[in-house]
Amino acid sequence: MDVRYPETVNDVIDAGLCIGCGLCEALAPKQWKMRYTAEGKLRPDRIGPGSDKAILEACPGAIARSNAEDTPRTDLIWGGHHRMQEAWAADPDIRHRASTGGVLTALGAALLESGKADFILHCEADPDVPMRTRWCLSEDVDALMMRAGSRYGPSDTLAGLSAAVSRDQPFAIIAKPCDAGAVRERAKSDPHLERNLVALLVMVCGGASDLQKSLNVLSEFNITEDDLTLFRYRGYGNPGATQIETSSSVHTKSYTDMWADESGWRIQSRCKVCPDALGEAADIAAADIWVDGMPTDEEEATNGIITRTARGELLLQEAIAGGQVCVGSNITAREFDRFQPHQVRKKHALASRLRGMISAGSPIYRHEGLRVAELDKPDVDQEEGTKKRVLEGRFNKG
Ligand SMILES: Cc1cc2nc3c(=O)[nH]c(=O)nc-3n(C[C@H](O)[C@H](O)[C@H](O)COP(=O)(O)OP(=O)(O)OC[C@H]3O[C@@H](n4cnc5c(N)ncnc54)[C@H](O)[C@@H]3O)c2cc1C
Ligand code: SF4
Ligand code: SF4
Repeated sequence: MDVRYPETVNDVIDAGLCIGCGLCEALAPKQWKMRYTAEGKLRPDRIGPGSDKAILEACPGAIARSNAEDTPRTDLIWGGHHRMQEAWAADPDIRHRASTGGVLTALGAALLESGKADFILHCEADPDVPMRTRWCLSEDVDALMMRAGSRYGPSDTLAGLSAAVSRDQPFAIIAKPCDAGAVRERAKSDPHLERNLVALLVMVCGGASDLQKSLNVLSEFNITEDDLTLFRYRGYGNPGATQIETSSSVHTKSYTDMWADESGWRIQSRCKVCPDALGEAADIAAADIWVDGMPTDEEEATNGIITRTARGELLLQEAIAGGQVCVGSNITAREFDRFQPHQVRKKHALASRLRGMISAGSPIYRHEGLRVAELDKPDVDQEEGTKKRVLEGRFNKG
């Protein structure tokens, strides 16, 4: 069967391959504006005519590639790396506030403090609508730290890419693996980005929920989005509870209550066929290291870190020497499998899901260096299930 690839941004959206990264708006602001759909997904909305060519060269719904660097170690599941190790922010305040051990924030802080980066492009809770997420530029460690923590709903960090590049100053990005893939591809045709980008830091990512996941939580507490003064998904501990505040009430939901049932994650379709949730396009990826992928209790806040490029390895060494990051035991690839069983399952199911899309006549993204064929464990249920979802129009809406 012929494999088709998206030829326009609308092909990406219609195939359910858009993750709402925001690159469309950054590269073509007169053509595309990021907006929430009725189903609670951030998607580009066409506001003017123009070519999609430059966008499609980097869009994660059209292309996914690893960073293609040679590394001293590689693993079929976890890909190329220099090291895998326990790590955490040396600053106890960062470590406490952050999503896990604060290593992404601490690495960003190391870049700001050394003067290697003038600012960090990442994301934060929108102060006006705190359940929603917006891109931001942090110029100092305090701002970066205040914005630490995982945001599980839609996030369009790359809508801020042009604002970052136009400053013509060295900067780093903290974002999701799919965002890193898009930035890595974009840098190939944007010399200003290539010159100024000093580091691409990502979290290992199980998938981005749509906004309905968070709205469902609000309805459990009988409050509306207009009431909110704070919506923190986790952090202030490891993992820390989801904390929701209004002017007159405080509500919490434990991490396990929030995420124990995978079927309730409301993960977007691009995530279900994500070929690089482990951050192989990035310089460094950071993860949780709970056995079997779930915390049993509040645990000491420690990340697992994966350095993926020589530049990422050097940044980590400098952050250790500079006193911003502490490291613990090495982690083997098989230990990482135990920490991330959902990622291992997805790696093996990916080729079947892509076959399901193809046999339903859907375009898929191009991919390179991500071992999709080598990891293939043919699974008729996955293939048929995906095909059915595409044919019934459910995948494309996800
Ligand atoms: C959607 C999502 C899914 C995840 N799934 C997994 C998983 O399957 N396995 C796993 O081990 N870990 C997962 N995590 C990552 C984990 O929660 C931690 O983010 C990671 O361990 C880094 O922790 P940290 O303490 O170093 O991060 P912090 O120091 O708290 O820094 C987090 C940084 O990420 C940025 N950020 C937060 N949310 C988003 C977002 N949605 N998009 C772009 N940037 C964002 C923040 O602006 C901040 O700069 C996921 C995170 C997210 C957001
Ligand atoms: S994934 Fe990003 S670049 Fe691709 S269509 Fe969606 S918003 Fe645009
Ligand atoms: S699972 Fe993949 S596509 Fe989905 S948000 Fe994470 S990195 Fe992006």
